[in-house]
Amino acid sequence: MYESMQDWLALVRRDFHQYPELGMNEKRTAMRIAEYLKEMNIEYIEGIANTGIVGIIRGCQEGRTVALRADMDALPIQEASNAQYRSKIDGKMHACGHDAHIAIQLGAAKVLNEIRASLKGNIKLIFQPSEETIGGAQPMVEAGVLENPHVDVIFGLHVDSELDVGSIGIKHGTISATSDSFSIIIEGTSAHGAYPHLGIDAVIASAHIITALQTVISRNTDPLNPAVLSIGKIQGGTAENIICDCVEMHGTIRALHPKAREVVLKNAASIVEETARALGSRGKFISHKGYPAIINDDIYVDIIKANGKKLIGEEWIINIEEASLGVEDFSFFLEKTPGAYYFLGCRNESKGITYNLHQNLFDIDESCLPIGVAMQVENVRSILG
Ligand SMILES: [Zn+2]
Ligand SMILES: [Zn+2]
Repeated sequence: MYESMQDWLALVRRDFHQYPELGMNEKRTAMRIAEYLKEMNIEYIEGIANTGIVGIIRGCQEGRTVALRADMDALPIQEASNAQYRSKIDGKMHACGHDAHIAIQLGAAKVLNEIRASLKGNIKLIFQPSEETIGGAQPMVEAGVLENPHVDVIFGLHVDSELDVGSIGIKHGTISATSDSFSIIIEGTSAHGAYPHLGIDAVIASAHIITALQTVISRNTDPLNPAVLSIGKIQGGTAENIICDCVEMHGTIRALHPKAREVVLKNAASIVEETARALGSRGKFISHKGYPAIINDDIYVDIIKANGKKLIGEEWIINIEEASLGVEDFSFFLEKTPGAYYFLGCRNESKGITYNLHQNLFDIDESCLPIGVAMQVENVRSILG
């Protein structure tokens, strides 16, 4: 199963690992990807949504188009490892395994390009910037990466530090949450602290609003459709003896289902406005749309499972029971295109590879790389073969 590619894949992964770049600054990363694609004689377009890059393999026969997606950005973390291939860039590290995603996608590109005579259709290799920060998927979709040729199916994977190397993790339906941020502004009227009746207290209004907002989750959303509303920041007032005329709050909303998201946003807005009004103040609720939920298409989950069964054996396919309230912007692709997203085990306790994603000692067991290649190649062949 592409074991012969192990050394090459490790080399490629370590190349990217040593030169991590943050979201929208993946300049060297994109340049190196372009060089690898050029070496393989694969056509590509650079500079999509800033540093994004898309390779295209045209099959020798007409057919559908399958996209594979790899994210490219690193994190602002100082790597603590002593590995020879540790980050050479101070304060930056591939602590989310996107270096592995790039290597796997280049490996899949190599194999698929070699067998393209047998493929009915095309493959798009989407290398996406900025998954960790502002999100590169949405601008890539807006730039048209899912068209010309039109993408019919998309597959994405992510290394998983909780799954043993050799396994994959997969789930039907929803995998990750929607995420929205919000701001609340409550306006009152200032007055002397000794004469509160002459003003309108924005602090009191904010206290009632914070309490009332808890009912959005406990009373308005379906308990079987989980959602979270958290206020993480509050600011207001200037002195202990002045009635505060303005309070600002900021928070985040997570939901596993678009319907729960809608309910939370609608009810939160009305609680803020109506509670503020009842207390004589003015309340504004401003939401900022973030990532949608990842909702897998069952038919492609079943294809991944069937390929996993063939390649790694059924006992190595881990059925993920619960969706996570974390987020991932692969969801922007899945909003437009059918497909599925799954996890690739990279943990190996016997080698001491046990640190989690985003930790400064995170690493992967590189023997997950050829498994990732094999899975992605088989997923494509299942559609175009
Ligand atoms: Zn991450
Ligand atoms: Zn990641």
